[in-house]
Amino acid sequence: MIDLLLATHSAGKIREIREMAEGRGWRWRGLDEYPDVPEAVEDGRTFAENAMKKALYYFAAAGLPALADDSGLEVDFLHGAPGVDSAYYAGHPRDDAANNRKLVASLGYVPPESRTARFRCVMAFAAAGEILFQTEGSVEGRIVDDPRGGNGFGYDPHFFVPRFGRTMAELEPSAKNAISHRGQALRKMLEHIAAWEARRNR
Ligand code: IMP
Repeated sequence: MIDLLLATHSAGKIREIREMAEGRGWRWRGLDEYPDVPEAVEDGRTFAENAMKKALYYFAAAGLPALADDSGLEVDFLHGAPGVDSAYYAGHPRDDAANNRKLVASLGYVPPESRTARFRCVMAFAAAGEILFQTEGSVEGRIVDDPRGGNGFGYDPHFFVPRFGRTMAELEPSAKNAISHRGQALRKMLEHIAAWEARRNR
């Protein structure tokens, strides 16, 4: 059994990643076990840069192979904002409700067809001081003014997924994981990690 570090403080990400990654026979450790480690600085300008930074930083801090996720929302009408600033769109400290209010306000009277957006996720896995794997995923949708649904987290209640006719927060967790940016990135990542582990055990 190998120990892996799930290198995120986001309760929503932890829940989703744990749900999808269970049954592999790995023990996922959390950052709550390292309370003295300061939060990583996320000053990269791309999801990939931040994911790599976080994976390397937490690998160095904990001495465990580390999986990091950097993700966010890109709204076309806002030229890709909030993008890498998704968590802090409305400022510090991070506040999902304030972020959602700002998102809705910044789209004002923009008509539905111009509210296209996507969630993007980049995952990075660091071990032995270097990035071994990086994967990504994205899912297309549209921003709606009225929040709907109680599942998920972050911008999910305002992210309408046309093929389901529902917001991301109205989907069951398993349905979200099946189509989400994080689900896509994680499924690819789990295969890389499994192959890496098999090579190590040979
Ligand atoms: P990070 O922790 O810097 O990667 O910030 C990610 C931010 O993007 C979160 O705080 C959410 O606001 C948003 N986000 C990422 N993934 C999701 C998702 O699956 N649903 C809703 N919001 C998300």
